[in-house]
Amino acid sequence: MNTHGHFDHVGANKALKEATGAKLLIHEGDASLMASAPMQSRAFGMNSASSPQADRYVKHGDVINAGEISLKVLHTPSFFRRHQPAEQGMVFTGDSLFAGSIGRTDLPGGDLMTLLRSIKTNLMTLPTIPRYSAARAVFHDREERRENPFLNRQSGFE
Ligand SMILES: [Zn+2]
Repeated sequence: MNTHGHFDHVGANKALKEATGAKLLIHEGDASLMASAPMQSRAFGMNSASSPQADRYVKHGDVINAGEISLKVLHTPSFFRRHQPAEQGMVFTGDSLFAGSIGRTDLPGGDLMTLLRSIKTNLMTLPTIPRYSAARAVFHDREERRENPFLNRQSGFE
């Protein structure tokens, strides 16, 4: 499951599919971005990363079940692992929310207000559970509300 189609997130898809036989899932809105991974990686001066096409497209609210794991798609884009009790869940925030920052919106397709609205609506309303971002392992929303300059009171986020 890819949170989005940036080359640095989809470059291992082919090898993972071959090694595990797993299905590849991504939001339909990121299919063309994933297809452009070779071009993206060359633009950053890196070896060409490519990905097979998705086996299935997901959308906000979809629930993906794999064994005992149940993940809900949040189009921030993120994946929320549901659990009972809810406090034992977790959320994979991809590039949308980092510890101390948020994802870049200056690249093609990015939009700051859309990202902030999405974080506020879809991520900050979840229980206080660990968040795993692409750039840094674990953090919690309580600290983020206080310390993340994009989300704290001085920024007018609340
Ligand atoms: Zn990214």
